[in-house]
Amino acid sequence: MTTQDDCLFCKIVRGEVPAEIVREGERTIAFRDINPQAPTHVLVIPREHYADAGAAAETDTGLLDAIVREARAVAEDEGVAESGYRLVFNTGSGAGQTVFHLHGHLLGGRGLNWPPG
Ligand code: IMP
Repeated sequence: MTTQDDCLFCKIVRGEVPAEIVREGERTIAFRDINPQAPTHVLVIPREHYADAGAAAETDTGLLDAIVREARAVAEDEGVAESGYRLVFNTGSGAGQTVFHLHGHLLGGRGLNWPPG
């Protein structure tokens, strides 16, 4: 499995940086965002390092499926699956990506506007 020494989310995967983990899968970890933007704001990440969703899709068949499935499971655990939730992959700094380790933002528990801004 590829991890990067200086990547914050790889450090969470390796247990070197603490996180409030809510679910662990074979290929994924889900933990609460440190700066939540909704009552439920959980990041679902692969254990393996990919810079973003596009990079993962190119080489790792099935990984994005695993992330989407895990996000749905977290939404169910958190009780937001029925009311609706958003799963966002910010891709590139122009879109607001600040951590370059693939992560899906699972947001729920409040009304969510569109367009997101
Ligand atoms: P991005 O801006 O889409 O790359 O999302 C990165 C997210 O990681 C932001 O929502 C941050 O609040 C969150 N974040 C940064 N550092 C930590 C941490 O140590 N634990 C949990 N979430 C973090």
